[in-house]
Amino acid sequence: MVERRERYPVKRYRRWRWLRSELFGSILLAVSLLVIAWQYFGMNRTLVIEPGESHTMWVENDSREGGNSIVSLSREDGLRMDCDIGSAISFPHCNLLIALGETDESGVDLSGFSSLYVELSQESTIRDSVRISLNHFFLASEQPENALPFKAHQRVFNASDQRMGYELQLADFYVPAWWVYANNLPARASSRDLSNVHHLVFSPGDISDERRTSITLYRAEFRGKWLTVAELYQLLVWVWISWLFVYFMTGAIILKRRVRQNRQEADQLAKLNRKLGSESKKYEEMAKRDELTGALNRNGLNGVLEDSIRDHFYRQQPFSILLLDIDHFKAINDKHGHAEGDRILKELVDVISRRKRNTDFVARWGGEEFLIVCNNTKTDQAYIFAEVLREQIAAHPFLGEQPVTCSIGVAEMFGADIELAFQSVDKALYKAKAGGRNRTEVHRPD
Ligand code: GH3
Ligand code: MG
Ligand code: MG
Repeated sequence: MVERRERYPVKRYRRWRWLRSELFGSILLAVSLLVIAWQYFGMNRTLVIEPGESHTMWVENDSREGGNSIVSLSREDGLRMDCDIGSAISFPHCNLLIALGETDESGVDLSGFSSLYVELSQESTIRDSVRISLNHFFLASEQPENALPFKAHQRVFNASDQRMGYELQLADFYVPAWWVYANNLPARASSRDLSNVHHLVFSPGDISDERRTSITLYRAEFRGKWLTVAELYQLLVWVWISWLFVYFMTGAIILKRRVRQNRQEADQLAKLNRKLGSESKKYEEMAKRDELTGALNRNGLNGVLEDSIRDHFYRQQPFSILLLDIDHFKAINDKHGHAEGDRILKELVDVISRRKRNTDFVARWGGEEFLIVCNNTKTDQAYIFAEVLREQIAAHPFLGEQPVTCSIGVAEMFGADIELAFQSVDKALYKAKAGGRNRTEVHRPD
């Protein structure tokens, strides 16, 4: 029998099935959309600069360059830098510096942030502006020769004398031309780079007039997203590609296994079919055979005769029939018993089968009578064969010394009616019996 198999017989596949399910695909899609929405509406990341709390801050003037500006730092509501800008040098200045890094050598990476939010106010004796600098420290390996160890990224804007919030895009900060010039920066060092920012610096604007100006800083905060849009989509693309890869790879593996399984099942079915075929052939063959002797029965004989008659009719092939009857079989039965009679019948068929040609057929006509169909055989040849057979039977030691003989009638098929041949062969046999038994007689039609 063919085994009843599971549809997916491979355990390893079961482990992957959840990954290939529509549910998993839907969850993945929903999560992707949620993450996109989250990135858009939230996923915020901030770096708050609390003046005086976690970050060191101080002010400096231009005395190092020979200037005479005076600067002071005070704390009220916010952090206030007062500056008397002098006129001793061409570019007088003063700065409020906030250290972003933990140590003097390390800065912070601001490349993941997109804007700087500041709350401040500015008062000045003449119209002024605020300059914000983000100083990026060069790593020792990338520092250009004869340049300061850092480069400034700046933005200048007009601030109100009232406390107000300003959101400045970090993309708008740039390394000013005068910085590139003064520090002789090579091209590779003059581009924007916020990966190692050490100082956040507030200064009065770029005019060099004498004045008294003050900047009060209330709050500074770097803002950004944990993932930029580009990073997010890159991540999603990888996740989806990985999923599709796994989906199609496992699909291919499963398909391969299923094909193999189907092939095995088909092989088994074919084997079974073959077995059934041979089995049914066997039964078909059995249905044509006499159980006791193995000779053809009436049913088998009919098939053989159909072929012979057809060949006789369409191809003018002659054929003859022999009707063989054991002499005094009743007496043999009586004397030796029915079982012994059966054995003799079997043995007789063996003797005939060994003697006959492949194209001849032997059938049990009934009781101890056998009909032999000799294809492609005319009367005379059939007679000779019958005589050989008769002699052989008479000589065969069925019962030791005691001979067992038979009488044989011979007739050839003429015309289209097999019944005539049967009648003829019957007559011939009768004649043989009447003539003394153990002999062969032929009956030819008139
Ligand atoms: P004869 O043909 O020479 O005239 O005499 P006979 O005794 O052979 O003729 P009859 O037709 O009177 O007897 C046939 C006997 O064959 C009768 C029956 O007991 C026996 N017989 C028929 N079929 C079988 C069989 O299958 N097995 C055995 N053992 N005997 C059978
Ligand atoms: Mg008989
Ligand atoms: Mg008989």
